[in-house]
Amino acid sequence: MAAQTDPLRDESGDVVEPSESESALETARRQLYQAANHLDIDPSIVERLKYPKKVHEVTVPIKRDDGTVEVFTAYRAQHDSVRGPFKGGLRYHPDVTRDECVGLGMWMTWKCAVMDLPFGGAKGGIAVNPKGLSSAENERLTRRFAQEIRDVIGPNQDIPAPDMGTDPQTMAWLMDAYSMQEGETTPGVVTGKPPVVGGSEGREEAPGRSVAIVTKLACEYYDRKLKETTVAVQGYGSVGANAARLLDKWGATVVAVSDVNGAMYEPEGVDTTAVPSHDEKPEAVTEYADTVISNVELLTLDVDVLIPAALGNVITKENAKTVAADFVVEGANGPTTSTADSILAERGVVVIPDILANAGGVTVSYFEWLQDINRRAWSIERVNDELEAEMHAAWDAVQSEFEQRDVTWRGAAYIVALSRIAEAHEARGLWP
Ligand code: NAD
Repeated sequence: MAAQTDPLRDESGDVVEPSESESALETARRQLYQAANHLDIDPSIVERLKYPKKVHEVTVPIKRDDGTVEVFTAYRAQHDSVRGPFKGGLRYHPDVTRDECVGLGMWMTWKCAVMDLPFGGAKGGIAVNPKGLSSAENERLTRRFAQEIRDVIGPNQDIPAPDMGTDPQTMAWLMDAYSMQEGETTPGVVTGKPPVVGGSEGREEAPGRSVAIVTKLACEYYDRKLKETTVAVQGYGSVGANAARLLDKWGATVVAVSDVNGAMYEPEGVDTTAVPSHDEKPEAVTEYADTVISNVELLTLDVDVLIPAALGNVITKENAKTVAADFVVEGANGPTTSTADSILAERGVVVIPDILANAGGVTVSYFEWLQDINRRAWSIERVNDELEAEMHAAWDAVQSEFEQRDVTWRGAAYIVALSRIAEAHEARGLWP
């Protein structure tokens, strides 16, 4: 059998320059190489980590409401499980592909490791437009998908969570379908469920909360007072609105927030609780604005902190030179392209990477899993206190690498993650 080929290396084995349209998989591999260059780890471990352990591809037939049958393609990419069960979201989106699941699954491996959670990384999804499904069709699709991947998921094997196009209800259906087939109620098979079936308090708010916590820690590290800090947030959904509201509460001045229609800009400060989040009233931000600017302008506002919390690849080779913020805290996954990242680094803009900044989501998922296994719910106070402690511990580990090496914060986060994963691989060895 032929060895795996690495699309990120040319014929002489050199790493090729990034393109602006780089896929999540290419970026994830590039970040792996960059971290490996700083560490004395066995090259065979890096070689292993370039590829997923397994990728499951299934077809999911459902009966539509009109009686016709339609078949969708779905994936579950399981990247690495050396530190514990695979963990990662399930997305329902027409553009879901095998490679995207692999790349996003790798990111989950790094994210869980930088947070020191006992999980590996995975990602999956169905290539479907969920907006084109009725609720009953969505439920049938989810239950049948659960059946198709039932053998490869489980509380000790692989634990899905919500992602783009899926929500707590999707997780409740998945958990129910799995539990019915297994013959026992198994809440720990998924996280991000409604609290009434074993979900955790504070899970929904957690990624935004962690973004706010690391913004506060970054300000402290660079001797900035949060009360004198201005913030612009792109995307006013789960991540963006929760981060903006907490930073506002802690004394920062949030001067701009946006949704897909545009941004509201209030130099004196946005009343973040008065503007509805995506969940409260979708795409309504600009209705509340006196001054509307574009999302492109928001990215170049002269603020202290810019939080891209909507989409990937929004800070690019084209606009990175015009980002005027001193700090970029990545709320979204992959908002900065590799080229833009280099430009920001050259310009001295501090970028706090996604795998640290928005990792509150998977951290509270871990708390949820613990609560499910122990059949004991935690209070919101306990969830928030423990999340704060985990974020501080991860920040300290990343800060230590940042101070010891000539790397960016992203580089430091990947070094922390990769060294933990590599140590676990060294200790376990290669079977057989
Ligand atoms: P969401 O659907 O709740 O909100 C997304 C927001 O972005 C909405 O306000 C929407 O109007 C806005 N938006 C969409 N397209 C836009 C555009 N072109 N320009 C500006 N704004 C636009 O989504 P979310 O859960 O907050 O996720 C946002 C990002 O954070 C995604 O990259 C997601 O992968 C990442 N993330 C989410 C979680 C989570 O648990 N929610 C965890 C980690 C990372």
